[in-house]
Amino acid sequence: IIEIGTPERSVITTCAYCGVGCSFKAEMRGDELVRMVPYKHGKANRGHSCVKGRFAYGYASHKDRILNPMIRDSINDPWQEVSWDEAMDFTAKRMKGIIEQHGRHSVGVITSSRCTNEEAYLVQKLTRAVFMNNNTDTCARVCHSPTGYGLGQTLGTSAGTQDFDSVEETDVVIVIGANPVSGHPVFASRLKKRLRKGAKLIVIDPRRTEMVESPHIKAEHHLALTPGTNVAIVTALAHVIVTEGLFDAQFIQDRCDWDEFQDYAEFVSQPQNSPESVALLTGVPAAEVRAAARLYAKGGNGSIYYGLGVTEHSQGSTTVIGIANLAMMTGNVGRPGVGVNPLRGQNNVQGSCDMGSFPHELPGYRHVKGEGVRDIFEKAWGVKIDEEPGLRIPNMLDAAVEGTFKGLYCQGEDILQSDPDTKHVAAGLAAMDCVIVHDLFLNETANYAHVFLPGSTFLEKDGTFTNAERRINMVRKVMAPRNGYADWEITQMLANAMGAKWSYTHPTQIMDEIAMTTPSFAGVSYEKIETMGSIQWPCNEKAPEGTPLMHVDGFVRGKGKFINTEYVATDEKTGPRFPLLLTTGRILSQYNVGAQTRRTGNVAWHSEDLLEIHPHDAEVRGVKEGDFVRLASRSGDTTLRATITDKVNPGVVYTTFHHPDTQANVITTDFSDWATNCPEYKVTAVQVSPSNGP
Ligand code: SF4
Repeated sequence: IIEIGTPERSVITTCAYCGVGCSFKAEMRGDELVRMVPYKHGKANRGHSCVKGRFAYGYASHKDRILNPMIRDSINDPWQEVSWDEAMDFTAKRMKGIIEQHGRHSVGVITSSRCTNEEAYLVQKLTRAVFMNNNTDTCARVCHSPTGYGLGQTLGTSAGTQDFDSVEETDVVIVIGANPVSGHPVFASRLKKRLRKGAKLIVIDPRRTEMVESPHIKAEHHLALTPGTNVAIVTALAHVIVTEGLFDAQFIQDRCDWDEFQDYAEFVSQPQNSPESVALLTGVPAAEVRAAARLYAKGGNGSIYYGLGVTEHSQGSTTVIGIANLAMMTGNVGRPGVGVNPLRGQNNVQGSCDMGSFPHELPGYRHVKGEGVRDIFEKAWGVKIDEEPGLRIPNMLDAAVEGTFKGLYCQGEDILQSDPDTKHVAAGLAAMDCVIVHDLFLNETANYAHVFLPGSTFLEKDGTFTNAERRINMVRKVMAPRNGYADWEITQMLANAMGAKWSYTHPTQIMDEIAMTTPSFAGVSYEKIETMGSIQWPCNEKAPEGTPLMHVDGFVRGKGKFINTEYVATDEKTGPRFPLLLTTGRILSQYNVGAQTRRTGNVAWHSEDLLEIHPHDAEVRGVKEGDFVRLASRSGDTTLRATITDKVNPGVVYTTFHHPDTQANVITTDFSDWATNCPEYKVTAVQVSPSNGP
């Protein structure tokens, strides 16, 4: 029995964990948050929640939170607590000094997918209007940047095409490279409800996840492919649909470029793309692929949901393109119950991408070189905007090691723990003259920081988050910021210390500026969100009430574009020294690198990361259940406990990455997606051997 006391008031706000975007009533007694109650009118969750949103908010009052700014001359010096004014003076002086000495391209920012839309907008504005370059990137670089590229190229915009509600009208679901039961639990419940009512499920995943088989659901087909072969499987599905004449010719003729489709059809029809030809490579029997393709093409309304098991590969963008090809060729876009849906991992990864956090795009996914695009912002901001795209995160780190990139403002992301090739990240950070970490806790990246700006939690500010179905939800201040300021105020202080004259007094003014500069948000205002409860973008003159389903009358880009998806093997190869393939994922009770969930008293739910290994691979290595094992790759090694399971096939091992001790990114490689540099986290050649412990 938990004593919670009697709440005195409640505030409706939005969960700050995953991209489902559940609404909650935060129940308060005085300044104390006593309970989070799922809000029954929340459009994404309809009164449901998972353990994270409901119980894992204690990090906001955790003793580890840093509440005062800190500075130091060198990373070898101890931290010195200072006032906000002193912190801003110190930071502005350093950053201005770097710009004077090394030029305006020597500094940049990393925005956060945890912060609000308004905060993401201000951080990229700081880069473009104050630092005067486009060196802005986001943690989406390491998760869904291939979605931006792949859906942008094929459909015209980087977003899920259907709303969560329309899963009720789906007949066949493909879940590829995602485990919504762990990563997007409330959406998984809605999906399972539909499956229990008769919809059919195809799971494409190296691991037998809870989606494949759990109480009350069983997938029709589980294509348990070898990690790294997504493109071969997706192309083989297309091969079957084309060669067996299962495509929707009318839809393609009406909505896509028919000539491009014919080129694509010729490409996928080649014998080397047949399920039989790729069976050895993918490890999936050809008959399973053929049956899955027939079910998706002919089973009624088809929806595809995908996650980081698609994007975090050297061919992540190619697989996203392949998924869009499948949907277009079967006519499964633009009406209820059908579509292509990236399951966004973080609460506001959709929003941070929408807000122009990428170095080549201004808000609303408009290229910095696009005709007339810079004019809009130059007029609104009264500055000249750099016409060259800026640096991506890995390019910033490379340039730092080379000595040309010297200053970084890193908001709400622990790049030392979450980005690949930890040694290289550390070398890049160590080479900079000014690293500003803006966060709740002294994270691993802060070891290399000169300035620490304490951040505010989602409970301590107003703003909006945008979920995986493009739904803009209100975030409402539940309590005063323990650190003194909301994150948008801190970014504004930094901009003004650098010479800007920003004067926002509330995030509603920032949203009004977003609406003024960004066509897909032109009709969005706090007033309208308050009236409607939430709004799905695009929301403008054409769609004043927002847009639950995209691409209804035509694709955003005009004609849907088919692009060939040539399979290219990753450079990460197994061999005698590293014969197994490691892939990674999440667990329900933890979140990303665990900065919040590990500080909520829930460690009993999942106190360490475990390595899943098949019984055969364990036996030949003399590994027993619960043994410590050494996990080694060409990049490095770590030690963790093994659990023996047939959820993974022989030759494949799997772990989560929530605990810093695991050091999963010491193991991962520096290979990345060809189009976007999204790291190839999901394929690493490894060896597993017995160990006495860390
Ligand atoms: Fe929060 Fe996602 Fe859980 Fe909903 S499903 S409560 S948004 S973590």
